[in-house]
Amino acid sequence: RIVFLNGSFLPIEEAKVPFMDRGFLFGDGVYEGIAILDGHLVDNDAHLERLERSLREVRIPNPYTRAEWTRLEEEIARRNGMTEGFIYFQVTRGVAERDFMFPENTAPTVAMFTQAKAIVNAPAAEKGIAVITVPDQRWSRRDIKSINLLAQVLAKQAAKEAGAQEAWMVQDGFVTEGGSSSGFIVTKEGRIVVRPLSNAILPGITRKSLLALSQDAGIELEERLFTVEEAYDAAEAFMTSASTFVLPIVSIDGRSIGDGKPGPITKKLREIYIRMASSPRMA
Ligand code: PMP
Repeated sequence: RIVFLNGSFLPIEEAKVPFMDRGFLFGDGVYEGIAILDGHLVDNDAHLERLERSLREVRIPNPYTRAEWTRLEEEIARRNGMTEGFIYFQVTRGVAERDFMFPENTAPTVAMFTQAKAIVNAPAAEKGIAVITVPDQRWSRRDIKSINLLAQVLAKQAAKEAGAQEAWMVQDGFVTEGGSSSGFIVTKEGRIVVRPLSNAILPGITRKSLLALSQDAGIELEERLFTVEEAYDAAEAFMTSASTFVLPIVSIDGRSIGDGKPGPITKKLREIYIRMASSPRMA
């Protein structure tokens, strides 16, 4: 397996990050994750735009142009023979003696790896997944894709221990988002409900694409907060993320959603998203 670290492609066993990396010591970094399908990058520009924004917000210099990032993504996919899966990349503020303030003259650490994965033919997409709800214990700048993921580690571990596959985080009674996904419900009238963008959630790239596609498909949208109780009572629920596309949610906190099977609107949205993602013009 070949990874990318600070300008070089090398076997993963040889890729070492120094002890004093600020990503390791402080979680001082940001990341991105993007799907690759049929050998091409899905929504690459939007992911790179979000990376640029995350870096700007935490004041880490962006080491590469968009064209350079794209070339690295394509190169790592090619070197790993990846046609379907996930590309992860992160940028930390670099290596320096431990001190909170920004170090001077320190180059960012850039790391990238791939994970081969069947996204389209995923069993979870057929059966749907179970979700639990947990309190949202994260900081207040969740719009930044920071590598500080301790709250999500704890939330998703709690989900696993409860026999579920994702945790929906809840603040003031309202669902914010999933541990690593955007959360949606479908009303009995067939309208999609999703929380509006703010500092309280990550601006999901899959969320954004799917909303554009759903509008083209004539499905109505309510961009507003929704409570856990409304979710229990929804006709359908689903989640989106780059590494899963659209996944049906068939239970929340042990309560069946709708008839307990993936709903028709969710299935349709998954289909139209896959059709878009498969189209080579997205490369
Ligand atoms: N919210 C959170 C907290 C996430 O970690 C992710 C996945 N990175 C998402 C939403 C979904 O974002 P995207 O569709 O860009 O993968």
